[in-house]
Amino acid sequence: MSPAEKVVAGVDLGGTAINYTFLDERGLFLIPGLCEHPARSVEGPDICIGQIAEGLELACRTAGVDRRKLIAVGLDTPGPASADGVLSKRGSTNFVHSAWAGYDMRAGLESTLGLPVTYLNDGNAAALWGHVSLFGSENTSTSVSAIIGTGLGGGVITDGRVVSGRNGFGGELGHVLIPYAAIPGIEGLTPDCNCGRTGDLESLCSLTAIRRTLLPHFLAKQPDHPLAAIADIGEAAKKVRGMAEKGDVMCREIFRVQAHALGLFFDEMVNVFDPDALIVGGGAVETSDEFRDWFITEIRAGMPSQREEQADLPIHVMPSGDSAGARGAALDAARMVRERGL
Ligand SMILES: [Zn+2]
Repeated sequence: MSPAEKVVAGVDLGGTAINYTFLDERGLFLIPGLCEHPARSVEGPDICIGQIAEGLELACRTAGVDRRKLIAVGLDTPGPASADGVLSKRGSTNFVHSAWAGYDMRAGLESTLGLPVTYLNDGNAAALWGHVSLFGSENTSTSVSAIIGTGLGGGVITDGRVVSGRNGFGGELGHVLIPYAAIPGIEGLTPDCNCGRTGDLESLCSLTAIRRTLLPHFLAKQPDHPLAAIADIGEAAKKVRGMAEKGDVMCREIFRVQAHALGLFFDEMVNVFDPDALIVGGGAVETSDEFRDWFITEIRAGMPSQREEQADLPIHVMPSGDSAGARGAALDAARMVRERGL
């Protein structure tokens, strides 16, 4: 690395860990895997921001980055927050301490570090990384990313830019309603989401959906299934993916429902954005090659037939899933550096 080289950092604040990465002027990431530091969000903003700054110093040392060459930081966190990183006044699952309500995360970190900071929500950050990994940082392409976790996150990138929207709620893909009655095998099911909607993508395509809706629905029809013997439905839900991978028929059916839900959702996105690529991340594809390929094939099977021009639309797997958020945040910081000529 030349002595003049400038570096930006990506900081992904999750529920229990902060994940760091660095991106240099050549567009290379300087940390191949994960560089983690414990998150202390539950203790409120002062402690949490201090912890992010401390972890950043440690990450610089781990990656061999001269702190003086660090010129900007991209931050991403779970929402809900405004497009500028002001957390919701109502608080949220990840920011329960009362001092978080209405707190300006971006400005708080900027003043602590003395460096310009950009902000994205975690789904949008991961979507940006997935997009740039396919199309490069200078592009005019459009992609839609869906990441299956406890909930369903993701984002939409059009013309190379993140759609964050007027209030920062752009790309809240999990709460888009889908015509779920079209999915075979879930007749009579009412999939409720934590957000109050019935039949949105997250209500069928998330770990929460397995625990709350899909597993109880399928176990009611198959009371002799081994998972019925586990008293705690949350524990049973965590075993569904492993059993599905090993070929358990009921658990495969649960994942087939999730894939078809995603197929219906992607069809909606195809008709809104006519994208260059669809990207899937999270637990369902961080599996064996066989299971991942089967899942992608089932997503396609769940999509209504496409126009001839759009039939070859690729469905990609999100690369470097665990570090996607930090990488996307770093890419957003690099965008700011370019735009401001820093
Ligand atoms: Zn919802």
